[in-house]
Amino acid sequence: MELAERIRQVAEEAERMLGTCEDLEELEALRVRYLGRKGALTLLLREIGKLPPEERPIAGRAGSEAKEKLEGLFRECREVLRRTQARKEALDVTLPGRRPPLGKRHPLTQIMDEIVDIFRGMGFEVVEGPEIETEYHNFDALNTPPDHPARDLHDTFYVEGGRLLRTHTSPVQIRVMESRRPPLRVLSPGRCYRNDTPDATHSPIFHQVEGLYVDRDVSFADLKGVIATFARQMFGPDVKVRFRPDFFPFTEPSAEYSFSCVFCGGKGCRVCKYTGWIEISGAGMVDPEVFKNVGYDPEEYIGFAFGMGVERLAMLKYGITDIRLFLENDLRFLEQF
Ligand SMILES: [Zn+2]
Repeated sequence: MELAERIRQVAEEAERMLGTCEDLEELEALRVRYLGRKGALTLLLREIGKLPPEERPIAGRAGSEAKEKLEGLFRECREVLRRTQARKEALDVTLPGRRPPLGKRHPLTQIMDEIVDIFRGMGFEVVEGPEIETEYHNFDALNTPPDHPARDLHDTFYVEGGRLLRTHTSPVQIRVMESRRPPLRVLSPGRCYRNDTPDATHSPIFHQVEGLYVDRDVSFADLKGVIATFARQMFGPDVKVRFRPDFFPFTEPSAEYSFSCVFCGGKGCRVCKYTGWIEISGAGMVDPEVFKNVGYDPEEYIGFAFGMGVERLAMLKYGITDIRLFLENDLRFLEQF
């Protein structure tokens, strides 16, 4: 075989071997084997000088081409292996992994769950109803006919077919009474709507929890006991509860109830406007007219109902001063709870 051909064969063999190299040491051994002082290619190149002069140019060209190409390949391969090795050394397997960000419950959901837990402990069962209501369930059945002044305070959003977005969760109580007989002890938490312009204390979307207790022998004292128990479990054993006469179309007698200020303990501060009390919501004995609307005999059954605003309780519990923060979806705010 001609020398030029043998040179090309050895060079190809060296190139194939390069592909199997896994680290710099193997690469160096391979380089010595082909390009070292006694390497296979080096030895062949030396033979060129022994050829007759007319054959030297062909073998000489093949020799320098092969040598140049191989030296280039070895350089590239060395660079790749060096970089891989550097990366391996930089990888510290003892470092802790990156934690993926975990979601959590919205502060309103947390408060709602807390409220529900407390009332469940007193035997209340959670019931739910539609957010798009009939005018009948939202107003009429609750003793609030179209000309009733209380409807002004409950201006809401109307949708097609005379339906509306419920202004409170009281229609859920009507639906439960329409479909079940006493004794009833139910709690209806949920989203409500009113046509209010948003500001620090008003939001067109808000959340309510309402309770209803109907049986043959229920008194206003039971209502006070239930509200006081809730107040102490929610805000601590020292919280006091105050009832004052009020008016609601669906309860008679009706009361507004307040908790002693959780910020100053009742001494008076900016939050409670120096009264020592913070108004929570309304309550009362279910109006006999409401019982008649759902087919209960008011001579046989008696009951109480109460409501509370979830945003208001969350603002008191966490010291939040602007109701709009709940809906802005700002993680810097939400992550604090
Ligand atoms: Zn206060």
